[in-house]
Amino acid sequence: MSNKLTAKERLAIERVHMPELPADERSRNFEEVNLGLSGDQALEEAKRCLQCKHRPCVAGCPVGVSIPEFLDALASDDLPRSVQILRGDNALPAVCGRVCPQETQCEALCVRGMKGESVGIGYLERYVADWAMNHPDRLLVDQRAQKTGKTVAVVGCGPAGLTAAGELAQKGHAVTIFEALHDTGGVLRYGIPEFRLPKEIIDREVAHLIDLGVSIECNVIIGKTLTIDELREDFDAVFVANGAGLPTMLGIPGENLKGVYAANEFLTRVNLMEAGRKEDASTPIIKRSEVAVIGGGNTAMDCVRTARRLGAERAMIVYRRSEAEMPARVEEIKHAKEEGVEFVMLTAPLEILASEDGWVRALKCQKMELGPADASGRRRPQPIEGSEFELSAGVIINAVGTNANPLLTATAPELQLNKWGNIVANENGETSIPGVFAGGDIVRGGATVILAMGDGKKAAAAIDEYLKTK
Ligand code: FAD
Ligand code: SF4
Ligand code: SF4
Repeated sequence: MSNKLTAKERLAIERVHMPELPADERSRNFEEVNLGLSGDQALEEAKRCLQCKHRPCVAGCPVGVSIPEFLDALASDDLPRSVQILRGDNALPAVCGRVCPQETQCEALCVRGMKGESVGIGYLERYVADWAMNHPDRLLVDQRAQKTGKTVAVVGCGPAGLTAAGELAQKGHAVTIFEALHDTGGVLRYGIPEFRLPKEIIDREVAHLIDLGVSIECNVIIGKTLTIDELREDFDAVFVANGAGLPTMLGIPGENLKGVYAANEFLTRVNLMEAGRKEDASTPIIKRSEVAVIGGGNTAMDCVRTARRLGAERAMIVYRRSEAEMPARVEEIKHAKEEGVEFVMLTAPLEILASEDGWVRALKCQKMELGPADASGRRRPQPIEGSEFELSAGVIINAVGTNANPLLTATAPELQLNKWGNIVANENGETSIPGVFAGGDIVRGGATVILAMGDGKKAAAAIDEYLKTK
C-alpha cells in the first residue's frame, strides 16, 4: 500500500485515542490499562505524519529513533520494514512505546503539535513493536556482525544495561550482563507495575537481546560476589548501569514505624515477589483501607494505584506542591484520578503517628502555599502557620525519590563520584577508570527509561571505539 497522501489530506486526519480498560474494572485488577491501537487505527495515525524533511521529532528522542522513516513504512503497510528501522535504533521499543514520556520528548517537537495534536509516535512505536513480537516469521533478518573476540561486562540489567548490551552484541562483541536480582529488567520489572508494563513485554524484549547473543547472569552482586577490579581482569571493558535504587528518607519522626514502606520496597514486593496478588506468594504486604503515598512523581503514582488495586478504599497522594508542579506523567495522573485516587495537594508531612501497639495510624501534615520559583524552576512550597492536621492512614509509602546505592562504588575507590554518590562520567560514559564506562540513573540520579537507554547507546559506541584501539 502506498503512503502518497497530500499534506492537506494528512492534516485532515484527527489523532486516534488509545482504547483503555474502564476505570471501575481496572482499579481492582492488574490488567494493562492501555489496550493498544488496532491495525486500522495505527495505519491511519501513521498517515498523519507530514514526513518533515528536517525531522524535528527525532531530535527529541534520546536514542534517535528514525521516526518519519518507521512511520512511513507503517503507513505504507510495510510492517517488517517498519520493525527493522525501529529496532535498528531502539533496543526496547515495546517498553518505550508504553512508558516513555513521549509528550515531553519526541511528540513535544512534532510540528503537528503546533496547531493541534502531535502524531501519536509512542502509540505507534508500541504498535509496531507488539506486531514484531507476534509475527516473528515475518521479520526481516539482519546480517549478524562478525565476532570481534572482545568481551564486555555490563553491571545491571535495567534499560541502560540492556541497551548497551544489545548495541555491543550487534557490533560482534561478547557481552555478559551481571544482575543482582533474580530477574531481568531493573525498574522496568520491579518498579513499574504490570498495569502499565506487562512482565511478558519485558520477557520478550529480553529474549530478543538473548537471541542477539547477550548472556545474562542473575543473582550476582557486583561489589559483593565480584568486584569491578575482577571484572576488569576478566573482560576487555566494563559498563556500569546499576541504577539508583536507594530510597531517600523523609527525615521526619515515625518513619521507622510498622506500616511505613519505601516505594521501591513496596513495589518490589508486589511486582517482583507478587505479594498481595497471589495466594501462595511467600512475601507478604500489609494491606489497609487507608493508604497515603508521599510524593508526586511516576513512582508515587505507581504506588498509589497499586495500593488501590490491593483494596485500599482511600488511596491518597500527599504532595507539597500543586498538581501543576507534579513530575508524574499527565496520563498517569489522569488514570489515577479516574481510578478513585485522592489528591491531597499543597500538603507536607511533618510526622508519622502510631497507635498504642506501634502501628501507623495517621500522617501529621501541614498545609503549604506556593512562593517564588526555586532552583528547579518550580514554585517553592512554604508552610502556612497553624494549618497542621492529621490524615488517617494505616500504611504510608515514602515515594520522594532515590539515591545511588554505595554498595558497588564503595569497593571501587578509584571511581570518581559526585557529592551525591553518583558516578562521574562524560557524555560518552567514560569514567575515571580507563575501560570502565557508566550510564543511566547511577550517573544522572533518578531520571527516565529513555535517558538511561540513550546513555547505554552512547556508551556502547564509545566502548566499541575503545575496543578497536585496545
Ligand atoms: P535500573 O532500571 O535501576 O536498573 C539497574 C539494575 O542494576 C537493577 O536491575 C539492579 O537490580 C541492578 N543492580 C544494582 N546494583 C547492582 C550491583 N551491585 N550488581 C549487579 N546489579 C546491580 N521512567 C520513565 O521513563 N517512564 C516511567 O513511566 C517511569 N516510571 C517509573 C516508575 C518507578 C516506580 C520508578 C522507580 C522509576 C520510573 N521511571 C520511569 C524511571 C526509570 O525507570 C529509571 O530512570 C530507569 O529504569 C533507569 O535505568 P537504569 O538502567 O539506569 O537503572
Ligand atoms: Fe519517542 Fe521515546 Fe520512542 Fe524516542 S523512544 S521516539 S522519545 S517514544
Ligand atoms: Fe512526522 Fe511530526 Fe516528525 Fe514531522 S515532526 S516527521 S509530522 S512525527
